[in-house]
This record gives sequence, C-alpha cells and structure tokens, in this order.
Amino acid sequence: MRHTVETLLSHVSSRTSEGDDLIKRAYQFAKHHHQDQLRLSGEPYFNHVFETALILSQIGLDPTTISAGLLHDIIEDTEATQEDIKKEFGSEILFLVEGVTKLGKIKYRGVERHVESLRKLFIATSQDIRVLIIKLCDRVHNMRTLEFIPEEKQKRIALETLEVHAPIAHRLGIGSIKDELEGLSFKYLYPQEYQETQKVAESRYIKAEQELKKLHKKLLTELAHEMIRVIRTEYRRKHIWSLYKKLLRKEMDIEKIYDIMALRIVVPTVSDCYRALGIVHSLWRPLPGRIKDFIAFPKPNGYQSLHTTIFTGEGSIAEVQIRTKEMHDHAEYGVASHVRYKHGNSDSSTLGWIKKLIPSGWSKHSSDEIEYIETKPPLWIEELVEAQEELEKPKDYLNGVKSDFLIDRIFVFTPKGDVIDLPIESSPVDFAYYVHSDIGDHIQGAKVNGKLVSLSTKLKNGDIVEIMTSAKSHPSKKWLEYSKTLLAKRSIKQYLKESSTS
Ligand code: MN
Repeated sequence: MRHTVETLLSHVSSRTSEGDDLIKRAYQFAKHHHQDQLRLSGEPYFNHVFETALILSQIGLDPTTISAGLLHDIIEDTEATQEDIKKEFGSEILFLVEGVTKLGKIKYRGVERHVESLRKLFIATSQDIRVLIIKLCDRVHNMRTLEFIPEEKQKRIALETLEVHAPIAHRLGIGSIKDELEGLSFKYLYPQEYQETQKVAESRYIKAEQELKKLHKKLLTELAHEMIRVIRTEYRRKHIWSLYKKLLRKEMDIEKIYDIMALRIVVPTVSDCYRALGIVHSLWRPLPGRIKDFIAFPKPNGYQSLHTTIFTGEGSIAEVQIRTKEMHDHAEYGVASHVRYKHGNSDSSTLGWIKKLIPSGWSKHSSDEIEYIETKPPLWIEELVEAQEELEKPKDYLNGVKSDFLIDRIFVFTPKGDVIDLPIESSPVDFAYYVHSDIGDHIQGAKVNGKLVSLSTKLKNGDIVEIMTSAKSHPSKKWLEYSKTLLAKRSIKQYLKESSTS
C-alpha cells in the first residue's frame, strides 16, 4: 500500500484542494508513462519517482515541487515530451523537471580537484534551490537502493554522493538528508570501516542513553519547576560518518569521544533556551570552553542551537543541546523548511523565488512568516540575492551587465580541473583570453573534452577545454566573430591595431 497517492498526500505539510489535485495528476501521469519500466531491483520504475516525491513531502516541500519530483525522470526516460509536460502542468513544473534532467547530465570525473568546481557547477546549473532539493531527494532514494547496482558502480556513485551531494545538502542546511547520504555513502565506500564503527558505537550508545535518561529526568523536574515547557526531547546519536571521522582523529579510541550521544531538548522561545541553559549549568558543572552559542552566532548554513558539555557527576560527561522548534526544523530541513510557508507562490523566476524566501534581510524580524531570523543565509545565497538586486536596477544598466549573472553563464574546466566561468555561448577564444592574454594571442587550436574543435565552437557547461598555442599563431579578424567576452574582443582589437601600425 506504500505507493498509493493517499500515502503521498498524507505527508504534505500544507494541504489544499488545488495542491492535492496537482499531485494526483502528476501521480497518474508518471504512473502511466513509466508503466512498463523496471529498476535493477525488479521493482516498477514508478516506485523510484514516488519515493523521491515522498521524501520531498517529508521534508516539507510544496505540491509544485512534489509534483516535479514525481515527474523528474519523465523527459529522460519516457516518451513524454517537454510540450506534454508544459501542456499538462505548466511552465513552472516544466522548468523544475528540465533543471533536474540537466543536472543528471553533469558527469562526475572523480578527480579531487574537480569536486569544488562540480559543486559550484551544480549550484549554478540548477538556478533554483528547488531543482537542487529534488536532485538530492532523487539521490537519497538511489542510495537507499544502491545494493542492486553492480559493485564498481556502487563505489563511484557513493563517492560522488559523499563529495558532491552531501556537501550541498549541508550547505542548504538539510541535516536529515546530509546525514543519510553520508551514512549510506560510508557503507558502500568503506564497508569494513563502516561495520567496525557500528560495532564499537553500539555498546557506547546503549550506555550513553542510560546516562542521559537519568539526566533527563532530573532536568525535566527542574525545568517544570521553573515553568519552562519542553516541546520534545531526543537522544541524538552522533551520526556514523562524523563519528568515524572523529574516531580517526582520536586514534580510534571511542572513549575519547564525548558527544557520541547528546540530550536534545526543544523549548518554545529563544529566551527559554537561555534560561534552560542556565538551569543545566546550575545542576551540573559545564566543561570550560565547550559552551557553544549558535543562536547568537549561527553556523554559516544557518544552524542554530545552544550546545554545552557537562560533568554528570558519575564520572562521565554528556552533551546537552537546547533549541526552539523553528531552529530544530531548520536544522533538519534547512532551506526546505522555509518553502512550506511560501506555498502558492506563483513567481517561478529563480532569483525572485530565492528573494522571496529571504525577504528584505534575513537579519530582521520583518517577515511574519519566518520567525527564526537572527541568522545569516549561506554566503552563496547572499550572492544570488545580490545578483537579483542587480537585476532590478534600471534597464540600460542591466543590458551592460546582464551576461555577468549566473543564469547566463557557463562553467568550464581547464585540463587541471580549475573552474572558469564565462558568458553563455563563449568560445575557446574567450576561454584562452580568460586564462591569459598571452595564450589568447597565440592560439593554434583547441580541444574540448579531448577532441579537436574549431575556434568558433560554443562551449557548454562542464566542458574541459584545452588550448594549444604556437609562437607563430596570431589573432585574426575572424576571431572577433567567435568571441563573446569584452576581454577577448578588446585584446584581439588591440593586437590587430598594433600589428597593422608596426
Ligand atoms: Mn531519478
């Protein structure tokens, strides 16, 4: 019964009849078009797109994004066309589905130097956070079912997930997805270490939980006494991949890991958080230097919470985390946790959407819809917001700088893996001048992805570009037609002028 539309709808956070109707239509459409396809597991292919949509609904996405999740493999894997999707579901959903399809075409080359470039490329190519979030949920389900994939492919996919997808989930603050992706990648990449870590952790978890339960009882009594309501309590296990990384730093000695499990309490307001912290410290002595105020000083991805480590009085120490419900949701679902508040937003333009997400300064209580505002957005979101502000400047200014925005740019690589961003439709000539004017002035030929190409070739996202030079080669008038950037055009003109006068 798992793959029924009712199951999916029951996870949607803000239901409306329009939203339900949209999801039902996308469900039927996907089911129909994927009907005879099977995955390597032998399951119907539809189950994959269903599970992707289910994860989207579980982390709080809106019906539009959930529907796009149902349709995310439609263009790539079925007969249905872009026009069909547009006709049935409109241009916003088509935009999201096309975005996910495009991302699927970016190939991971497994070279270390490419990793940061690839993350940037991912972010730039997706243009809309929702595209990235769908891609991440798609990856979560693919990782959950990785056992059915041939072994050598498992490792490649797991490595890519660990190096590209998990860091993006982290950057978006979606802790639940980051943790799951890391755990699954770990399992397939280093199976032996995974099992060993699990083994050493298990007995410690049990012991730590018993200790925390005692603390918890005492703490609850005291908080009740001080009239602080506790919304929920969790015993949070340190995630297996971060545990393993920490073990590596501590000579694999589990006894040296103090935060293997933390007591996490969720209280109604920020002032309750600080009051609760005071109570914790009055009951147990804190370890100096281990009190972390991520409320006043949020992490770059927006994470907020109070952390402290205390002596339990029974010869051990324990970590306590205190936060509000909003901080908790943000930690689990990150950027995604905001989307539900913006249900029904009809502005599908990329940057506009992000702008709306972060209304007039993330740092002010200016929006009634986002309450936990005393935090900063990830830097790259700020950059996108700035780009959006630029876009809103007067038209003539806009024309001059238009091609400098992410949406009009492509990201290509040097043979060493450095990323270079250029305006869309740039050629190897633009690339060469970008790298160095000397290279530009002596281009003999160019290779893209290892193949010789003409200098008029239009570069595409992810291309690896190599320029061959010769002391005898020089710019010609023709190159002006090939070049897109001002830098290349200016350099070529200058060379032509100098060579005609000399
Ligand atoms: Mn997929």
